Amino acid sequence: MPRDFLQGVRDHYDVAVIGSGLGGLTAANILAREGRSVLLLEQHYKLGGLATWFKRPGGHIFDISLHGFPYGMLKSCRRYWSNDIADSIVQLEHIRFDNPMFSLTTTFNREDFTRLLSTRFAIDPAVIKEFFDTARGMNFYDDQSLTTGELFQKFFPGREDVVRLLMEPITYANGSTLEDPAITYGIVFSNFMSKGVFTFCGGTDHLIKSMETEMLANGVDIRIRCDVQKVIVENGRVAGVRVNDRDIRCSTVVSNANLNSTIFGLVGEEKFDRNFVDEARAVRLNNSSTQVYMALAEGDSIDRSTGDLLFCSTAPLFRTELLLSKDITSRTFSFYYPDIRPEGKQRHLIVSSTNANYSDWKSLDSEQYEEAKKNLVETTLDALEKYVPNCRERIVHAEAATPLTFERYTKHVAGSSFGTKFEGLAVSRGLPHQVGGLYHAGSCGIIMSGWLGTINYGVIVANDVDNFLMKRSGAGAAV
Ligand SMILES: Cc1cc2nc3c(=O)[nH]c(=O)nc-3n(C[C@H](O)[C@H](O)[C@H](O)COP(=O)(O)OP(=O)(O)OC[C@H]3O[C@@H](n4cnc5c(N)ncnc54)[C@H](O)[C@@H]3O)c2cc1C
Repeated sequence: MPRDFLQGVRDHYDVAVIGSGLGGLTAANILAREGRSVLLLEQHYKLGGLATWFKRPGGHIFDISLHGFPYGMLKSCRRYWSNDIADSIVQLEHIRFDNPMFSLTTTFNREDFTRLLSTRFAIDPAVIKEFFDTARGMNFYDDQSLTTGELFQKFFPGREDVVRLLMEPITYANGSTLEDPAITYGIVFSNFMSKGVFTFCGGTDHLIKSMETEMLANGVDIRIRCDVQKVIVENGRVAGVRVNDRDIRCSTVVSNANLNSTIFGLVGEEKFDRNFVDEARAVRLNNSSTQVYMALAEGDSIDRSTGDLLFCSTAPLFRTELLLSKDITSRTFSFYYPDIRPEGKQRHLIVSSTNANYSDWKSLDSEQYEEAKKNLVETTLDALEKYVPNCRERIVHAEAATPLTFERYTKHVAGSSFGTKFEGLAVSRGLPHQVGGLYHAGSCGIIMSGWLGTINYGVIVANDVDNFLMKRSGAGAAV
């Protein structure tokens, strides 16, 4: 008989959280901490969503999305998770750029960028200060008509090299482009510039295990291999979820699944106003990614000066379409040194990431797909040779992931790495106005994506849900 992953489940919960990405986990944890009964449903056999890892023989553990996040993670983790989690966050100090326009290493904060922009790029310090102040002063309610490209044009006209330095890492970090609203750039860039780039010491497996422990202590009912098929709506309000062919009643739903599949798949467009459906249909998905995971043999090592994060490109100029092209010219290499996994086997690992178009991979037949994956590994090794000499002889394991891999494991529409484009945020926030008790907390809108963005979005939505439940029970106050 197949195992019942819902064994012992209750008849009713205050909240059902669909998906265990960082946004779903955070919302679940906060709501349980506030005394709400919370059922967390994850279709995969592991928690974490895109914050995940996998193991390969030889003691290699590869992280998928642990490349870097802003300092704000430390504060959010301390406040909404635990001191242990926050205390494991450490800075990555060697961020490298190597492209036909410049090669440099930086600590990736305002001080060092100011130094570089004035000395290496000969920009007037007053202009640099004004640019940083402008970016830092941006917030969600600002004018959204100014694009990032126009912002750069205003401060650094004609300076493609400066645009590349300022934009390339952010495009990599959240898929945003020069055509997106400048606030999406300003907010994310300023987050990084506050103190630099940080990572989680111990690896994603350690983080997710710690989060699971915390959630269990707070009473979250955690269920893996539980694929939610439907959000049950009765009389314009959430009434429950259908999961593994079984109906479970709940007062609210927080969907951490892709915004598009939440609206059109889990709930169904007939439950929303026509105008809202049109608005939701117009939301663009963010791009997807490819990755190549590589491990050096036991005892072999990479010199620390190689960097922690390396933005390398052979493209003469920075162009969004080049970053997405299947003929890859730009890669971000993450180098993992053993001190990031102090308790694991002492392995040096490299992960190469590139932004990618889903359609380039979806259109291939299975033979072409396998060939394209092999080619991705080969061309990545070619590119890595410059930074890790003789890498072909030294690498004992290499494999690739594509947009189809991300789609398969997370059910993100078109394998989207960062949910939706900016306009998705208003639609995500509009859900509870359409269906009482229906919320979404997951990557959307560029600002609310990435590890920090989704954790913070989980916090915001947990507050909304708690207020809704309080109002319903007539109690009144906020979290
Ligand atoms: C290659 C790559 C590299 C990245 N690198 C970084 C980085 O260095 N720094 C950074 O900050 N961010 C990075 N990101 C982005 C970051 O990982 C994500 O923005 C973030 O983890 C997404 O969290 P989320 O809460 O939106 O949920 P997701 O991680 O998208 O998880 C959604 C969860 O919902 C589950 N689910 C979906 N449908 C159902 C259903 N019907 N029933 C049950 N469960 C369901 C899925 O299985 C999944 O577990 C990267 C992303 C990618 C793809």
